[in-house]
Amino acid sequence: MNPSQLKPYIIIIIEETHPFNFRSFVNLLNQLNLSFVIAPHPESAIFHAEYTNPDIILIPFDPHQGNPQETNQKLKQAKITQNVPVLWMNNYSELKTQTSQAFATTLEALNPFVNPNPSVNTLPTDMIIKTLQKQVQVQQELLIKLQAENQQLKRLASLDDLTQLANRREFYNYLQEHWLSCQEDYLSMILCDVDFFKLYNDTYGHLAGDYCLQQIANAIETAVQRVREPEPYLVARYGGEEFAVILPHLDLENARKVAEEIQLQIRSLKIPHRSSPLRSHITSSLGVSCSIPGKQSYLQELISAADQAMYQAKSQGRDQVRVAKKIL
Ligand code: GH3
Ligand code: MG
Ligand code: MG
Repeated sequence: MNPSQLKPYIIIIIEETHPFNFRSFVNLLNQLNLSFVIAPHPESAIFHAEYTNPDIILIPFDPHQGNPQETNQKLKQAKITQNVPVLWMNNYSELKTQTSQAFATTLEALNPFVNPNPSVNTLPTDMIIKTLQKQVQVQQELLIKLQAENQQLKRLASLDDLTQLANRREFYNYLQEHWLSCQEDYLSMILCDVDFFKLYNDTYGHLAGDYCLQQIANAIETAVQRVREPEPYLVARYGGEEFAVILPHLDLENARKVAEEIQLQIRSLKIPHRSSPLRSHITSSLGVSCSIPGKQSYLQELISAADQAMYQAKSQGRDQVRVAKKIL
């Protein structure tokens, strides 16, 4: 199968001198949802084959007028077409009536008819149609499967392994997308950093640290979902023990309320942290910023403002929410 083709690709050789009026035949092939090209002679078929990598070459012929032996030989002598299956059709006039044939024959049914010895290769037309239809069906099923797999790969590529939240790449994609959709409207973001997490790892070990991050990720998602759904939002793992929330169409004051919900939800996990200089359980520091995307504001400033607010929360004692001074 030509990888660039989603349908089977067929080259049909109809010699110019052939009495066959192929208009109805071409209509039929169109109805069968096949990609094809008509070649007036074997040299033209070989030329097309080089560019289209066909799945099959069809040679309609009239048994009373001649035998396409010579054409077949030329195809077999050319490197590019020597391995392409060749079908001879000696009963093409029936083709017109066969368009509504049900998909019945398996793709394998093609093989017995692709006979290297052309003298015995006289195919019943309905078998050709069924086989080609089956080929189309198989390719369509394959396409659906590939599309599903592609979706799954895309999903995996946008997720953080440990927490199953959106990863940083997805964070940027989402932010860019909503930067455009929020023109002249609010777009807020929250950065949330776990307090004294290095000490947590040092005390309980890295594996416990991982589990702690998973619980925190769930807590953030739960809090945001509770207060924002059905409005759009994204919770992402921004890096290490830092999380980011994007809140399209939400102003600074309401974004601060979302941040406070997150802080409470993390606190309520009551994850013990005996070496924390602050409390006996895990806490977090959060920074909130807001922008009205437009000509005067830049996406990077929104991130920097959230970052600065978060570091203010750290420097002012941790376990708190700090808000950027102004809407950007
Ligand atoms: P602060 O309150 O100032 O934020 O202090 P902190 O200790 O949380 O900050 P610091 O940046 O010093 O340390 C962050 C720690 O987070 C260090 C790093 O080992 C840990 N960390 C980052 N990613 C992971 C992870 O995936 N799993 C675990 N277990 N630890 C991680
Ligand atoms: Mg940090
Ligand atoms: Mg930290």
